[in-house]
Amino acid sequence: MDIEKEAARIAEKGECAPRLARDPVNLPMINNWLEAIGDEHPGYTEVAPPAMVQVWTMAGLHGQRTLDDPLGAMMKILDEAGYTSVVATNSDQTYHRYLRVGEHLSVTTSLEDVTGPKKTGLGEGWFVTTRSTWWVGDEAVAEMRFRVLKFRPAAKPDTTPEASAPATQPATQPQLPQPQAIRPAVNRDTQYFWDGCREGELRIQRCGQCGLLRHPPGPMCPECGATKPKYLLSDGRGVVYSYVVHHHPQVPGKQTPFVIALIELDEGVRMLGELHGEPSIGLPVEVVFTKVDDELTMPSWRPRADR
Ligand code: ZN
Repeated sequence: MDIEKEAARIAEKGECAPRLARDPVNLPMINNWLEAIGDEHPGYTEVAPPAMVQVWTMAGLHGQRTLDDPLGAMMKILDEAGYTSVVATNSDQTYHRYLRVGEHLSVTTSLEDVTGPKKTGLGEGWFVTTRSTWWVGDEAVAEMRFRVLKFRPAAKPDTTPEASAPATQPATQPQLPQPQAIRPAVNRDTQYFWDGCREGELRIQRCGQCGLLRHPPGPMCPECGATKPKYLLSDGRGVVYSYVVHHHPQVPGKQTPFVIALIELDEGVRMLGELHGEPSIGLPVEVVFTKVDDELTMPSWRPRADR
């Protein structure tokens, strides 16, 4: 199959028909979202947080793609060509204005670009970029450029029962991340954190103006709006606030099951990471650094010896 030709055929059709949101912008969903994100800003009583835009047009648990959906059509072509796995790589959103409670959105999507085949750490694949526009009537209110890598998985790890850890027991031994481990996206906001891990330091971002601690890192203080953050060195100790045991799907460079825990640090912020050991809520833990290669050292957590 000529993938580029098929992509051009889909791109030529332009935007798909508008798909109407299931519900208008509404306060109950805004409140659920604010709670889930941990955003306590009191201003969202008549307008929605801009970053929620995608929520309004989610298809729901049993939703199905429409026939003219360009991303669905392109995924099908790549599936048939053997590129059966997918991972999202970029999502850039632009908001033109706040959305008001009661407004009813629709969304259109077009296929912008298909590039490949490229060799990647995950396997050979194609980058597929779509552009979505959200509308209130005929007014464009937000846009998103969304890119996925659709790839042919590289040689699979041995997943026979004998080779895997017992399915009901969380992993109890630290696993060294493999070279093909998924790597964090390092950017200007997070560079200091990964630099710190390489030095064996757990760094927590601190507002340069009001001193508020925050994690994950960001460009601006949610309290006072200051940019130019600093950081403090954490003592790397905390307790398990919550956790999940990951069984499925397979993760490159990891053996399932493994535990991902949300750690509440003594300094007051929470941090996600792998936990080596039997998880329980409130378990005292300490950070441990594992060098993957010269560029990357990953922090993870283990039960404290002195607990
Ligand atoms: Zn501040």
